[in-house]
Amino acid sequence: MPNFKVVIIGIGGVGKSALTLQFVHRKFVDAYEPTIEDIYRRQIELDDEVYVLDLLDTAGQEEFSVIHDTHLRSGDGFIIVFSLVDRESYESVPNLISQIYKVKETDKFPIVIVGNKSDLEKDRCVDFVEAEKFAKQKNSRYFETSAKLRTNVEDPFHFLAREMNRISLNPQSV
Ligand code: GDP
Repeated sequence: MPNFKVVIIGIGGVGKSALTLQFVHRKFVDAYEPTIEDIYRRQIELDDEVYVLDLLDTAGQEEFSVIHDTHLRSGDGFIIVFSLVDRESYESVPNLISQIYKVKETDKFPIVIVGNKSDLEKDRCVDFVEAEKFAKQKNSRYFETSAKLRTNVEDPFHFLAREMNRISLNPQSV
């Protein structure tokens, strides 16, 4: 069965761990140790195919620090998380995308952009249409999630799994 590695990046505090743990363990973890970097595994069934996803929840990086190249190089697909209530975290996304492209030897991999904390709607400072347009320009797909309420948590992972599979079956595409 197909096994893909997903690397989850984003500046600190946006909810990378919360989203990953919600996807893997169906639990909202409120205070997760920010320095822990861990690999999780979850099997999912989609379109009559079983996928094994290895998820690397990266930790500790600030906006302009460099994520370990080896992490990025090993990823088959990427989830870039920002917080809908933290404009700065959104503005760091282009830099994170550049970091991925810098180390990957190919451009045949999917990236999804996730605006997390959608439950804090009244404090939102990134507009849905703006973020979606940005994602399109970057050949990416945009999702909004709430790791806290488990809203749309599965969607970015499913999208990525289908894309990684499509690319692995037909590397000439994209
Ligand atoms: P990371 O540093 O990106 O891994 O972020 P964490 O997963 O540690 O989350 C940072 C903080 O944001 C924690 O206090 C979480 O409880 C909180 N958080 C994460 N996701 C959500 C969410 O969807 N909604 C709300 N309201 N808080 C969240």
